[in-house]
Amino acid sequence: MASNTKVVHALVLPYPSQGHINPLLQFCKRLVSKGAKATFVNSVFLSKSMHADPKSSINFETISDGYDEGGWLSAESAEIYLDNLRTVGSKTLSELIKKLQDNGQVIDVVIYDSFLTWALDVAKEFGIVAAAFFTQTCAVNSVYYHVYNGLLPVPLSGSPVSLPELPVLQPEETPSFVYRPEDNPAFRDLLVNQFCNVDQTDWVFLNIFDKLEENLLNWMGKLWRRVRTVGPTVPSMYLDKRLADDTGYGIHLSKPESSLCMNWLNRQETGSVVYVSFGSWSQINEVQIEEIASALKQSGFKFLWVVRAFEKEKLPKTFTEETSDQGLVVTWSPQLEVLAHESLGCFVTHCGFNSVLEALCLGVPMVAAPVWTDQPTNAKLIEDVWGVGIRTKKDEQGIVRKESLVSCLEEIMEEGSEKGKLIKENAAKWKNLAKEAIDEGGSSDKNIDDFLADLAS
Ligand code: UDP
Repeated sequence: MASNTKVVHALVLPYPSQGHINPLLQFCKRLVSKGAKATFVNSVFLSKSMHADPKSSINFETISDGYDEGGWLSAESAEIYLDNLRTVGSKTLSELIKKLQDNGQVIDVVIYDSFLTWALDVAKEFGIVAAAFFTQTCAVNSVYYHVYNGLLPVPLSGSPVSLPELPVLQPEETPSFVYRPEDNPAFRDLLVNQFCNVDQTDWVFLNIFDKLEENLLNWMGKLWRRVRTVGPTVPSMYLDKRLADDTGYGIHLSKPESSLCMNWLNRQETGSVVYVSFGSWSQINEVQIEEIASALKQSGFKFLWVVRAFEKEKLPKTFTEETSDQGLVVTWSPQLEVLAHESLGCFVTHCGFNSVLEALCLGVPMVAAPVWTDQPTNAKLIEDVWGVGIRTKKDEQGIVRKESLVSCLEEIMEEGSEKGKLIKENAAKWKNLAKEAIDEGGSSDKNIDDFLADLAS
């Protein structure tokens, strides 16, 4: 009797950035919808800029990353930030667990972002079950896993890379931290070291769905204990619609210009708009912004372009005025609503994995313009594995020139393009498969049920 009524309590710990908070928070919503209790643990700094829904059925707590006032941008370097995140984070996570336990709360599982391997040690100190949550693709995980185990050299020697269940990857199709390790050694170490204790964790969760990386998933499933897909973590309203209140992530670190975007989109024809966004923190230089501006102008397609506040000054001075009949530039959009809008024709994306998953779930063809980290590998999957987009080409200076972008846009947007037709068919196929996986009885849905049943038993 007791086992039937037990409410499982999960403590969920994201890496403190928007792209990691979104999937883990969504996962909390799924757990709660199945009768579990979820406590979402944010950094003190980010919790101040997030406006959590007061009606939310998720509990919110905080730990410190050592930078409560200024967040990671106020740290002296990425290395020092990550060091403090580990030491201060471990200490304050322990204090939080102790506080909750002293208040009579039982924590059944700590679900931690795979970047935060130290959280496993904390969970184990308290004798709590632990689950690592990987927010990136299996392809990217596999590359880092091979680097961690000394099976791939860093930097790569220049020869193509052949890994199990993956197409051959050119060096520049691997994550940038592998082929350009000098870019950010601290982040490279963080990502490669995700595998330092993964064999000791009790569950491994992946923010994908079975069909997306089926063969690779089978290969990975043999490496660690209980490897399970639980994605896509896109809000239910855009997929199975079973979670009535789950209409958005609920947390925006930047304020979207929602009515401006949606009113403008409402005036455009079906399938006519090119949406351009490079996510929250990839840096785009002035030359690249100029090339995108001329490409959009020359293509003649209607466009909605997110140029974040910190790079607005890089836009050519007269661009907004000159293109006011053709497009709209905003500093932040309600991206899910935008991608779901019928006027959307394609998405020029930096290939951050949340953006890629969102486009897959909403059936939007992509023009891939990866910048760094896992994005080049995601771009390869988009074009060569899932067939839902085209990659732009970079010149020797690493810039996507106007000609390359215009030609990709034309291939997707122009009626009569055979390639565009095929990409649209594939996009529609993946949209259905994504929904099926998280809908009742789908592979991810069943995996979440099994996980909770195991903890409740
Ligand atoms: N996003 C948004 N509005 C924008 C740009 C991005 O809401 O104007 C959201 C997007 O929907 C996604 C997240 O920000 O959920 C970006 O995550 P992603 O992994 O794509 O990129 P990152 O920001 O981590 O580089």
